[in-house]
Amino acid sequence: MKEKKVEEKKAAGEKTVETLTCPVQKKCGGCQFLGMPYAQQLNIKQHQVEKLLRPFGRVCPIIGMENPYYYRNKVHAVFGRTRTGEIICGTYQENTHKIIPVEQCLIEDRKSEEIIRSIRGLLKSFKIKTYDEDTGYGLLRHVLVRRGFQSGQIMVVLVLADPIFPSKNNFVSALRRLHPEITTIILNINAKKTSMVLGEREKTLYGPGYIEDTLLGKTFRISAKSFYQVNPVQTEVLYQTAIGYAALTGKERVLDAYCGIGTIGLLAASQAKEVIGVELNADAIRDARINARRNSITNVKFYNADAGKFMTGLAEQNINVDVVFMDPPRAGSDEAFLSSVVKLQPGKVVYISCNPETLARDLKYLTGNGYKVEKIQPTDMFCFTEHVECVVLMSKVEK
Ligand code: SAH
Repeated sequence: MKEKKVEEKKAAGEKTVETLTCPVQKKCGGCQFLGMPYAQQLNIKQHQVEKLLRPFGRVCPIIGMENPYYYRNKVHAVFGRTRTGEIICGTYQENTHKIIPVEQCLIEDRKSEEIIRSIRGLLKSFKIKTYDEDTGYGLLRHVLVRRGFQSGQIMVVLVLADPIFPSKNNFVSALRRLHPEITTIILNINAKKTSMVLGEREKTLYGPGYIEDTLLGKTFRISAKSFYQVNPVQTEVLYQTAIGYAALTGKERVLDAYCGIGTIGLLAASQAKEVIGVELNADAIRDARINARRNSITNVKFYNADAGKFMTGLAEQNINVDVVFMDPPRAGSDEAFLSSVVKLQPGKVVYISCNPETLARDLKYLTGNGYKVEKIQPTDMFCFTEHVECVVLMSKVEK
């Protein structure tokens, strides 16, 4: 943050990055860097990335946020009761299943938190029991709220242990009266003893069953079970970096692997000849296909498959691919995918990663098999936490 702004904030009596505190920081374990000046947080992340990735190439200075607070567009609250029967909602204590109440979090969207507090208030009057993980008794397990920062659309997902939700219509009406800004309410059923938040089955109680949001001028539909980046401000920075690295000319066949709702491929499509997207989650692929139509993009095709298996198929058929965008989950990619990249020899690979450790492992594979790292760009998507996102440009070494 710029010195002047800090001074202005101090003068106005507003708390700054340096002084803000959270009463549950230690128990929650989410914000490892809270209480540390933002510049120092960025320094730590820069060093962490350099330590792991410097052997592969030069690391550019990390791109931080202008305002690193309340950036999360998705808020999850687990519901339960204290021994005395009081309803609480918040987060699990680190590495346990004990619920710690969270009133206000410094990185989560405040409107979403307000809605969660309203739901807690409604439970009593509607006599809705919270779920007890030990006994398996009770109904409401979790609430998930997602807000489109640009569209203003809000999705509320009520995760219940049982599909039978007595007085659901009245509950939905009451919630909408309190928050007319909610655009859709979804019932998700999770009857399993599991640490996964969402179950398979869902039913829309109000609205279209999804929200839309805009990134870099294109509009994307997001379903409850689809992945969507949690920091939309930095997502635009991340995607611009990734697409810029690809330096497309309009002639390329581009693969968007681990594509989610199709965001990267759809944003790159106007600069490519064609885009192929692949993603494991069926709901996300449905969103991606609709997103193509929604934005009148006709040179894309989305496939619902495991990225490794799909890529192996492309390699077996010797399908020419010029550029690969790959954005796998924290666990990174796999040998099936990486060995197929090596076989297909795309000129460029742009790797987007939220885990520098698995990224280093996968870079080791690719740089050992005919690729070299051109650029590495860390981006702060998860301010106040130890997590860091990176975009890496690799190119094929000419023989
Ligand atoms: N590129 C997207 C999604 C990135 S998150 C975006 O920026 O929004 C990683 C995605 O990989 C998730 O959507 C997840 O469902 C998907 N995924 C996880 N394992 C996969 C696999 N084996 N094959 C294909 N997709 C997978």
